[in-house]
Amino acid sequence: MVDHKIRIDFNEGNVLESVTYTLVSEFDLRPNVLRADIDGDGSGFMLLSIVGEEENVCRAMARIRDMGFSVRELSGHIIHDTERCWSCGACVSLCPTRSIHHEEGTMRVLLDTGTCIACGSCINACSVKAIQLEL
Ligand code: SF4
Ligand code: SF4
Repeated sequence: MVDHKIRIDFNEGNVLESVTYTLVSEFDLRPNVLRADIDGDGSGFMLLSIVGEEENVCRAMARIRDMGFSVRELSGHIIHDTERCWSCGACVSLCPTRSIHHEEGTMRVLLDTGTCIACGSCINACSVKAIQLEL
């Protein structure tokens, strides 16, 4: 069993529920939606954790592409430059796993690299470029 993190982008022509249903019913996978954002025009993205057999995950990703979704696996890791960061908090609410968070007591913003899935949601929020994705 492996745990993959993937990002699926969709447009108004696609139906979100159909993806998770397909993963379960056709590939015996266990998907967990970490975050889903939908814009006013119906387009958006979904971050998923998927547990199952490696081969099934690969086949499922191909199947999702065939359904018309853009899908990519999340890899790499995030670097948080604590010297540059001024703990403004702009990135905190965007994190689906609460990996980048305010430290209790000090309110300093810190990154827990053990839970970060490198989804990249926090990167553009940072005006001083204290967060970088390293591939
Ligand atoms: S990349 Fe940023 S938003 Fe995504 S899980 Fe890691 S800290 Fe959170
Ligand atoms: S947005 Fe940048 S400066 Fe603000 S808390 Fe996050 S990492 Fe720090």
